[in-house]
Order: sequence, then structure tokens, then C-alpha cells
Amino acid sequence: MTSTLLSALTTAAVGGPAGKYIEASTEAEIIDAVRTADAAREQVLIIGGGSNLLISDDGFPGTVIRIASEGFTVNAEDSCGGVALVVQAGHNWDALVEHAVLHAWSGIEALSGIPGATGATPVQNVGPTALTSPRPSRRSAPGTGPGTRSRRSPIPS
Ligand SMILES: Cc1cc2nc3c(=O)[nH]c(=O)nc-3n(C[C@H](O)[C@H](O)[C@H](O)COP(=O)(O)OP(=O)(O)OC[C@H]3O[C@@H](n4cnc5c(N)ncnc54)[C@H](O)[C@@H]3O)c2cc1C
Repeated sequence: MTSTLLSALTTAAVGGPAGKYIEASTEAEIIDAVRTADAAREQVLIIGGGSNLLISDDGFPGTVIRIASEGFTVNAEDSCGGVALVVQAGHNWDALVEHAVLHAWSGIEALSGIPGATGATPVQNVGPTALTSPRPSRRSAPGTGPGTRSRRSPIPS
């Protein structure tokens, strides 16, 4: 085990030591770190922003790879075809959304405010939780469903 505590890398601030710890800042470093761990038959834990991870106090016995790659390139931008970006996996997701909004690139603005790195968004299938509105349940008695201002008992008084 290393002296690197994973609690320092998670939003929940829990997690013991890493067996091995690698901070990979480029795509090539990420690929190399995964290949090396695979060749050694070690378990791999990828960490992005650490906002959706709960790690045991015992830590992780294998190789922990922290994705620290940043930046993006704009491969195409026009008013008809839209924008095509290649984004590094470690790039902060919300910073990317902010950049898109500031440049009037529509499409991901509803995913603003979600913590973490861009590489995790497809893995986690992120969605705009804050925008989902509660639907009243069919089983709710009148005046007791979500969104009602005051809850009233269905039992006549
Ligand atoms: C306050 C708060 C609000 C949130 N709001 C929302 C919300 O509105 N909608 C929503 O969908 N989620 C929400 N989340 C959850 C979280 O933001 C997302 O799941 C986010 O995608 C996690 O990104 P991360 O980089 O922090 O991932 P991590 O926590 O570092 O990792 C999460 C998982 O993804 C894997 N992973 C991470 N990066 C990669 C990669 N590059 N390649 C392969 N696997 C990878 C990890 O191994 C791990 O299994 C919220 C979390 C918090 C703390």
C-alpha cells in the first residue's frame, strides 16, 4: 500500500490507501497505466472528480489511476452542423458546460452544475436531476401527492 489516501480524492472524503497510485495527465499516460496494470493482473480503479465514489477505509489494493488530463479541441464549428469537440477525460464537466453556454453551443446546458470530470459523464449516464419534476403518484390521495402545498389526511375528520 502507498501513503496516498483516497479520502483526499473523493467528495465524501472517505477512503483508505491506494495499493499503487498513478496520476495520468495525458491520454497516452492513461492508456499506459491501464495496460501496465492489466499486464500485471492488478485490479484497476479509475478516479475522475471523485464525486460519486464511496471507498472503504481499507482502501483499494490494486492500481488507482487518477484521470488528470485537461483541455479540449474544437474539431468543427458552424451554425448549421453544430459543434464537434474532443474533450480530455479529466476536464471538469461543469467548466465545459459553462464554456458551451458562453459560446451559445446548445445541447448540454441542462447538465450544468453536475460535479465531476467529463470522462465520467457517459460512464455515469449523467442526467439533469435538478430539472426533473415530481410526478404525482396514482396512489396518492387527493392533496397528499408530491408538489401539493399542504398535506391533508384522506380520513374525514
Ligand atoms: C452534489 C452532487 C450533485 C450531483 N448531481 C448530479 C446530477 O444532477 N445528475 C447526475 O447524473 N449526477 C449527479 N451527481 C453524481 C456525479 O456528479 C456524476 O456521477 C459524475 O459523472 C461523477 O463524475 P466524477 O468524475 O466525479 O466520477 P468519480 O466519482 O470519480 O467516478 C465515478 C465512477 O465512474 C468511473 N469513472 C470515472 N471517470 C472515468 C473514466 N474517465 N473512464 C472510465 N470510468 C470512469 C469511476 O471508476 C467510478 O466507477 C452529483 C454528485 C454530487 C456530489
